[in-house]
Amino acid sequence: MLQVALVVFLIEFGQYWMHRAMHDWLPLWLTHAPHHHLTQLNAMKGFVGNPIELFLISLSVVALFDVATPALFCGLNVLGVISGYAHANIRSNPPLFYSYAFTTIRHHSLHHTALSYEDTRCNYGNSVILFDRLFGTYREGESSIVGQDERRRLSIREQFLFPFQPLLEKFELSNGMLRSSSETRR
Ligand SMILES: [Zn+2]
Ligand SMILES: [Zn+2]
Repeated sequence: MLQVALVVFLIEFGQYWMHRAMHDWLPLWLTHAPHHHLTQLNAMKGFVGNPIELFLISLSVVALFDVATPALFCGLNVLGVISGYAHANIRSNPPLFYSYAFTTIRHHSLHHTALSYEDTRCNYGNSVILFDRLFGTYREGESSIVGQDERRRLSIREQFLFPFQPLLEKFELSNGMLRSSSETRR
């Protein structure tokens, strides 16, 4: 049980800071933004994201610890259940002890709020909301409307290409300039 708690702590601690960095630094935000373009939450959508984001958020020091394999799997499953629940599209108020330590639908809906980008910068804990309470990013409340950029939905192609958007725009711009300069020459 102690090893399971250690796995949960180590993975969530790393995810908290990576997630926070994703909301603080543009290149990382571009990998995380597709997850925030969800316009409705449900239990499976916790796993929707750009592959680069999913890779970065899965990085953990847990492999450096000599944890028993069953404890590792148990910890990962606990995290999966809690974050699946946090994305669920249902109304449910768990007991206070639970919502004090673990992320609930209310907490995470507020993190996904469509109000403004600035308003999403709270409740970073994927499964352990306690870290937000400790590090001053906790906010009380919930949001019934979720999404980003006027709640525009992204196609799968857009979700894949999102982190490269600035590059693609530059490329298209320079292509456009080339085209227009060749047209003026003509
Ligand atoms: Zn986020
Ligand atoms: Zn989410």
